[in-house]
Amino acid sequence: MPFDPNDIMKDRLTDIGPPKYDTFWPPIIKENYGKWKYHEILEPGVLLHVSETGAKLYSVRVGTSRLVSVDYIREVCDIADKYCDGYLRWTTRNNIEFLVTDESKLKLLIEDLKSRGNWFPIGGTGASITSMVHTQGWVHCHTPATDASGVVKAVMDELFEYFGSHKLPAQVRIALACCLNMCGAVHCSDIAILGVHRKPPFIEHERVQNVCEIPLVVASCPTYAIKPKKVGEYKSIEINYERCMFCGNCYTMCPALPIADQDGDGIALWVGGKVSNSRVPPMFSKLAIPYLPNEPPRWPSVVKWVKKIVEVYASDARRYERVGEWINRIGWERFFEKTGIEFRHEHIDDYRLAMTTWRTTTQFKF
Ligand code: SF4
Ligand code: SF4
Repeated sequence: MPFDPNDIMKDRLTDIGPPKYDTFWPPIIKENYGKWKYHEILEPGVLLHVSETGAKLYSVRVGTSRLVSVDYIREVCDIADKYCDGYLRWTTRNNIEFLVTDESKLKLLIEDLKSRGNWFPIGGTGASITSMVHTQGWVHCHTPATDASGVVKAVMDELFEYFGSHKLPAQVRIALACCLNMCGAVHCSDIAILGVHRKPPFIEHERVQNVCEIPLVVASCPTYAIKPKKVGEYKSIEINYERCMFCGNCYTMCPALPIADQDGDGIALWVGGKVSNSRVPPMFSKLAIPYLPNEPPRWPSVVKWVKKIVEVYASDARRYERVGEWINRIGWERFFEKTGIEFRHEHIDDYRLAMTTWRTTTQFKF
């Protein structure tokens, strides 16, 4: 449309921000907004939402990876056109939900999805392990201590039987963040895989003054570990290693302070977090294993320990009990005992404000 000076907003196209969400709603969602009465899980991966108007919406959830190809998206759209009047949605955990209003198409859709090999695994609902939420990893970001997609693929391949079934006591949410900036929800997941650096940044003194704003780098450090320093003829910086917590913030400001290190980088496992308010309030994840090495392409140690935690939880927890609730019931001492995870000095909270959170009781549950 040509620009109209009398109505400057007319037909205006902009790429600032996403379009308003309700412009994408399927008609049934629009018509029943605020009227949904209940939902049930008909079988693993298949949900039914019922409105007080009597309208019914079936959704079939399938797992995807976080990075998908254009060909894959075309195939997904073709399926949605065929069975769902073109409507589907992506969940926050990278699953696709095909939205079906015509009950007669539900069975056909499920059969079609199953006929496409393992491209469209159905599941991820209820007491299952749904797709893992994860971050960018070595593919895209500059401060990762590990890969993201590679670890997720290796872990989910091993836990796949739990995706399309409801055989766990409750849902198990697994997340991965490739550094402690944690773009993934590792602070509040049942099992969290966290990339950790264990060495301070390397200072490339000859580059610092050319590519970095030194005051900005000094200000970027959350622990005030950096100060300016002349090194030979170079204007550079100095890091107080006692204070450095290996966060990588300074590298974000200054590419002459690389933090990635083959020996120093690896993975920590955290357990027991949750977001939901069911039964007990939301909980933060707590440290289970402080360090596991990066072992691409299949990360066998990480896979082994995540699987072990899932299996011990599956055999020991009560129905509806999330991982954190289970651990709180049996006690952390017993968690370490049952899983065979070694208790080490890293498990002791030495944060400077930890006085307020330390467990000071003399009661142990061995
Ligand atoms: Fe980058 Fe860290 Fe986020 Fe991973 S978690 S994508 S390394 S900021
Ligand atoms: Fe400071 Fe973090 Fe850089 Fe260490 S890695 S010097 S704590 S900004």
